[in-house]
Amino acid sequence: MIMTPVEGEEYLILYPALRKWINECAICHSLGYKPDMPEEIYTFGPVAAKNLRHYFKPLALNKDGICEACSKLVEKNNI
Ligand SMILES: [Zn+2]
Repeated sequence: MIMTPVEGEEYLILYPALRKWINECAICHSLGYKPDMPEEIYTFGPVAAKNLRHYFKPLALNKDGICEACSKLVEKNNI
């Protein structure tokens, strides 16, 4: 079963402190968990990290806060 992003966002509304483990691309605004998220999130335990991995995909951002897909587009358009 594939979870929609809306369910992930609802989860973040319930647990706003978990937002610090979520990356948001500055261009496409897609959400994903930080690839360096630990197995256990402090005070939340292993369940929170498991849920974030369930609701979101890993999303790495570059130094400009842009996801890989968008940074490739930006590069292409600059050439
Ligand atoms: Zn993006």
